[in-house]
Amino acid sequence: MRQPLIAGNWKMNGNRSSVETLLSNVINGASTISKTEVVVCPSFPFLDLSERLLSGTSIKLGAQNTSTKESGAYTGEVSASMLANFGCQYVICGHSERREYYGETDAIIAEKVSICVEKGMRAILCVGETLNQREQEQTESVISTQLDGVITQIGIDIFNNIEIAYEPVWAIGTGKTATPEQAQSVHAFIRQKIASHSLVIAEKIRILYGGSMKAENACDLLSQSDIDGGLIGGASLVANDFLAICRAG
Ligand code: PGA
Repeated sequence: MRQPLIAGNWKMNGNRSSVETLLSNVINGASTISKTEVVVCPSFPFLDLSERLLSGTSIKLGAQNTSTKESGAYTGEVSASMLANFGCQYVICGHSERREYYGETDAIIAEKVSICVEKGMRAILCVGETLNQREQEQTESVISTQLDGVITQIGIDIFNNIEIAYEPVWAIGTGKTATPEQAQSVHAFIRQKIASHSLVIAEKIRILYGGSMKAENACDLLSQSDIDGGLIGGASLVANDFLAICRAG
């Protein structure tokens, strides 16, 4: 059985005091969560504060991005070693906002996934189609290409150490959630694709859904057989909403 995973992607939000309040509220409510693994992914400047607040709790820390470089003259970059050093256990790689606004290609994303795993963290590899691609019935081919970026560059074995997040771009931050059936169908496709390389990994790998997941739709989405958790944006910024999703997991 796959343990459900709910990860909060806080994106570029918050300040010292709001992060402290949000995290304290999540920590205080965490005793109501039984079987779900919970991760929060704050912006880089809040990792230290978050690591300290989370110490001794069951909630894990993640980051939203990493450099592909180890160290050195790369002004403005943050390395995977630094993230591991601050207690990160997860790193979101290839979020559609990174692909769209920062030109991240499948090749760059594969490098990021690889370096995170090399440094002992788990990557959350995001894939998903735009509305236009869905309307052109390209959903499966787009996702297949995104997955192949990692499979051909790094190899299937890396999928032992990563999660996949299916995030239809048209559902992110829009309030439009994929229906449980739409999401399940893509999740099943992703699992089959992994199974064509390794049945063992396909059975084990967690495939999260992301895109306007909230307390009201979490149960229906998470009850689908191939949906093993969620990557939560907006709703992860409100402690009670996030906790409600974690309980639904
Ligand atoms: P959302 O974002 O929940 O606000 O749609 C999800 C994500 O971008 O990971």
